[in-house]
Amino acid sequence: MSDRLSALGLKPVETEGTEVVPGDGASHLAGRVHDISVTIPGRSSTGQVLLVAHTDSVLTGPGASDDGLGVSSLLEIARILTEGPRPRNDVVLLFTDSEETGQLGVRAYIHSLGKVDDMPRVVLNLEARGTAGRAVMFETGDHSSALVRALGDHPPVATSLSAEVYRRLPNDTDFTQLRKAGMTGLNFAVIGDSADYHAPGDDLAHVHLGSLQDLGDTVLAAAHRLSATDLRDVTRSSDATWFNVGPLLVRYPAGAVLPLALAAPLALLAAGWYARRRKTLRPGAMLRPALTFPLALAATAALGRAAWQVLVLIRPYYASFLTGDPYRTGPAIIGLLLLTAALTGLWTAWAGRRSGALETAAGIAVWPALLAVPTALLLPGAAYVFTWTALGVAAGVALGARAAEDSPWRTTALIGSALPAVIVLVPLVTLLFPTLGLATAAVPLVLAALALAVLATPFSRWLRGLRARRLVAVAVVVALAGTACVGGAVAADRPDADHPRPVSLMYALDADHGRAYWVSEDTDPASWVTGYTGHRRTEALEAWSPALAAPPGGLLAGPAPVTPVATPEVSTVSDTRSGATRTVRLKVGPRTGKPALLALYVDTSTAQVVRARVAGTPAGTPDLSGGENRPHAGSPWKWGLLMVAPDPRGQDVTLVVRGDKPLRVLAMTEDSGLPAQALSRPRPADLTWEPGAAGLSFASRVYTI
Ligand SMILES: [Zn+2]
Repeated sequence: MSDRLSALGLKPVETEGTEVVPGDGASHLAGRVHDISVTIPGRSSTGQVLLVAHTDSVLTGPGASDDGLGVSSLLEIARILTEGPRPRNDVVLLFTDSEETGQLGVRAYIHSLGKVDDMPRVVLNLEARGTAGRAVMFETGDHSSALVRALGDHPPVATSLSAEVYRRLPNDTDFTQLRKAGMTGLNFAVIGDSADYHAPGDDLAHVHLGSLQDLGDTVLAAAHRLSATDLRDVTRSSDATWFNVGPLLVRYPAGAVLPLALAAPLALLAAGWYARRRKTLRPGAMLRPALTFPLALAATAALGRAAWQVLVLIRPYYASFLTGDPYRTGPAIIGLLLLTAALTGLWTAWAGRRSGALETAAGIAVWPALLAVPTALLLPGAAYVFTWTALGVAAGVALGARAAEDSPWRTTALIGSALPAVIVLVPLVTLLFPTLGLATAAVPLVLAALALAVLATPFSRWLRGLRARRLVAVAVVVALAGTACVGGAVAADRPDADHPRPVSLMYALDADHGRAYWVSEDTDPASWVTGYTGHRRTEALEAWSPALAAPPGGLLAGPAPVTPVATPEVSTVSDTRSGATRTVRLKVGPRTGKPALLALYVDTSTAQVVRARVAGTPAGTPDLSGGENRPHAGSPWKWGLLMVAPDPRGQDVTLVVRGDKPLRVLAMTEDSGLPAQALSRPRPADLTWEPGAAGLSFASRVYTI
C-alpha cells in the first residue's frame, strides 16, 4: 500500500507501536499495531479532512468487504485527489490496524498526534457490515448540519434516526475513538447481504462492485466538498435532522425540530376542530380507531417476532448469523409485508366500521401527533417520522373537511395526506430490514403498518362497503400469499456452497498434559461437527482454556489428535520482592508458530494482581489495573491480558502481585485455522465458519512461578 501511495507522488508515513486498552469487565488488551498515513497538503488549509479505513479483519473472515471496500476506496480517492487541482484543506488518508480488536491502530494514531490542538478535523470513516447494497451514512459527530450538507452531490442512504440510535449502541468503530478525541465527522458503511459479515464469505467473490463504486463516489463527493470549505465554519454549525426523499437528502436545523413537533398535535387539533365545525367529524367516532390502533401495531410486532421464532425453529442455524439476517431474505420480507398488509387492512375496515375516513385518519394520527413532542425531546433526530406523518394527516383532515363524505375530493385529500407518511417511512423501512435483520423485523414492520394504515384510510368507505365475509376472504388470501412467500423462502434456503450454513468447530490443546479436543458452541450441531466433537457437552475446558467459556448447557467437546499448533511459552526475566509485593517480569511468547493472539491469565486465588505493564507502550501510558478484570469467569483465571499480533520474539509483561502462595499464570495462543493434519475430513462446501467461534486453534500452558 505504501508503494501504491508513493507511486502517486505522496509520502506515506508508517508508524509502529504498542497500544493498550484497559479492560472493564474483560481482559485488558494490548497489541503491536502498524498504521499508514499520508497527507495531501492543501493550498491554504483551514483544517484537516481525515479519511479513515482499517486494514485488519477478524480471524474468521478475510475482510474483502470489511474493510477492503474502505481501503480500496481510499486508494482510488488518493489517486483522484492527486490528479486534480490541489485541495484547499489538508486531506489525510489514514489506514488503521487492529480496528476489530479494540481499535488499537486508531488509538495509536490519536496518541501520535500528541496534545490535541484546536485545528478543526473532520473524519470520513469507511466501514462495512455486509457485502452489497448502497452506501449508508449511519453515524455523525457534532455539527451535523454542515457535515450532511457536504453529502449533497452524491447523497448516500441516510437518516438522522440511525445516527440517534447508533449513538446509544455499544458498537465501536475507529470513528468512536476519533470522536472521543474531539473530532467530528461522518461514518459510512455498506450493510446489505450481511450473512457473510465477519465470516469466510466476506471474500472477493461476494463483494458487490456496485457497492464499492457507490461508497467511493459518496465519500469522494463529500471529501471534495469538505476539502474546499472553511472547516472552521463546520465546527461552528449546528446539529440537524436529515432523511432521504427520493434522490435528495432533506436537511433542516435541529432548532426546527421541537417547533415542528409541537405544530403536529396543534395542527391535528385545529384540523379536527375545523372539521367538527363543518360537521364532517364526530370526535366520538374517532375513539375506536384511536384506542385500538396501538393494538394493531402490537399485533404486527408480535407477528414479526413470531415469524422469526418459527424460522429459527425450522432452520436453527439462522440464530448464528451475527446480524440476525440469513441469506436471500427478499421473499421473506415481502411475505411479512403482505401479512402486515392483511392485518392492517382488516383493522382499518373494522376500526372504521362506524366512522368516516376522516375520523379514522384523525384517530390514527393521534398517535404520531402525541409521540412527536416526546421524541423531539428524547431522540430529536427521529422526531421527523412522527412529525411529518401527523402534519400530513392534519392537512388532509382540514382539506377533506371541506368536501362531502362521498366526494372524490375528500378521498384525494386523504390520499395526499398519506404522502408525507409514505415519503418518510418507506426509505426508513427499506433501511431497517437489512440493518436489524429478520430477527428484529418487528421494528420495520410496525413502521410499515403505520404507513399502510394511513394509506388505507382514504379507502375505508370502500372497505366498509364490502361484505364482512368478502373482506375477510381477501385478507385471508393476502395472508396466505404472505405465508407462502415466507414459507417458500425458508424452504428454498437450503445450505449450499454460495449460502453455507455457519457452524462452530475449534481445536484446543492442553500443552501441559498433551491432550487436545474438538470443541463446538453449536446447540444444534451439523453432523460434520459431531463427527469430530461427538455429542458430549462439558463445562470443564475453561479451567485450562479460558477462551472456551461454556454457554448454559456446556460446549460440545470430543478428543482430538495432538498435532503441532502455535503454543505459548512463559519465562521469568526477573522476580523481586519488596515488602508484601512481588514484581515479576515475564517474557510471554510463542514457543512454536506465529499465533495471531497471545493471552496471559492470572489465577487470582493464588495472588492478587496489583498492577501490570506491557513493555513498548508510549511514555505516559498508565499501568494496567489489577484486581479481577474478568470477575464473571467460571474459572480461577479472573485477571487477563490479550496481546494481539504479538512480537514473535516474545512480549515483555511486568506483573506486580501480592500474596504468599506461588503465582500461577496461564498462557494461551489463539490462531486462525484448524490443524490440517488433525482434520481428516475438510469442511464441506455447504458449511462455513460461525463468526468469532470457529476455525480457531487454541493452546495453553500453566506456569507456577
Ligand atoms: Zn470493519
